[in-house]
Amino acid sequence: MRPFTYERATSAQDAAAKAAAMPGARFIAGGTNLLDLMKLEIETPGHLIDVNGLGMDQMVETPDGGLRIGALVRNTDLAADKRVRKDYGVLTRALVAGASGQLRNKATTAGNLLQRTRCPYFYDVNMPCNKRKPGSGCGAIGGFSRQLGVIGTSEACIATHPSDMAVAMRVLDASVETMRPDGTTRAIPIAEFHKLPGQTPQTETALEKGELIISVALPKPTGGTHIYRKVRDRASYAFALVSVAAVIGRDGKGAVALGGVAPKPWRVEEADALLPKGAQAVSDRLFAEATPREDNAFKIMLAKRTIASVIAEAKG
Ligand SMILES: Cc1cc2nc3c(=O)[nH]c(=O)nc-3n(C[C@H](O)[C@H](O)[C@H](O)COP(=O)(O)OP(=O)(O)OC[C@H]3O[C@@H](n4cnc5c(N)ncnc54)[C@H](O)[C@@H]3O)c2cc1C
Ligand code: SF4
Repeated sequence: MRPFTYERATSAQDAAAKAAAMPGARFIAGGTNLLDLMKLEIETPGHLIDVNGLGMDQMVETPDGGLRIGALVRNTDLAADKRVRKDYGVLTRALVAGASGQLRNKATTAGNLLQRTRCPYFYDVNMPCNKRKPGSGCGAIGGFSRQLGVIGTSEACIATHPSDMAVAMRVLDASVETMRPDGTTRAIPIAEFHKLPGQTPQTETALEKGELIISVALPKPTGGTHIYRKVRDRASYAFALVSVAAVIGRDGKGAVALGGVAPKPWRVEEADALLPKGAQAVSDRLFAEATPREDNAFKIMLAKRTIASVIAEAKG
């Protein structure tokens, strides 16, 4: 690990302003992803700004009947919150399907959204990786791609986003609330928060330099049946090969988002509209522009079967 300096921020704006002003500065929350990457020298920040003491660990109801989740709310606390369990069950289910109890006790809402890909070539500093070192090439393309993406990928990068929580946030139409270094705030719809790789896979989100996530807002609950189904190589403690987050009403209408298949939580609103027609129609639309590779083409059939199972469960 490279040497670095460390400080505790005194306010959200202080944190954002310092992160923008100091080259190589990074925020640290739970540290469960950033510290691993620092040990491997994949991330090499010269300065860490600890945002744990900023009071961003509260959950409050919003005036429009939704829920505002502080950026520092731990995954365990978010999953266990009574309001989340009652009105946003898909989020609780996605959270408890991720990582382990110990990790969820440390992992934060913002850190989870910003965790980096688990592409094995990204983690191997001896291999080329356009995300880790822009312009160096991609070890995964032409390599072993079983875990990697089948849709939304590019010729520069086929990595997937690993978060379970983010897939549930996407199906719930969450909004990421931030503070810029000048103290202004904005709300970024989760659909626009994570970026597709294109030719710049190193740019993973819509965040600007120094911009701090302060909270994530969920809209008013919509009711319906909430399901999160995660398919993985082991029964627990493994990232998704494919996951399906769904909120489906009694009339068969609703929304579906997928994890494990794309560089961001994958949802296509036109596919949602096809839900009453069944899994085949939904899957065909979700994967209409898919570019699978030999190793990972199985994910499309796996997703289709998982969607079918989820729709059947929602019908009761
Ligand atoms: C062994 C293992 C298994 C795992 N399994 C799963 C799994 O199955 N499913 C899953 O979804 N996840 C899994 N995870 C990932 C885990 O959920 C993430 O590491 C965790 O959510 C990251 O949160 P954190 O608070 O620790 O982030 P940190 O490591 O502190 O930060 C992550 C990134 O977010 C940035 N950041 C943090 N807070 C803010 C903020 N407020 N504003 C702007 N930037 C910020 C940091 O600068 C850093 O770049 C696993 C992790 C491990 C180590
Ligand atoms: S798929 Fe993306 S993250 Fe993986 S090696 Fe290629 S460029 Fe790097």
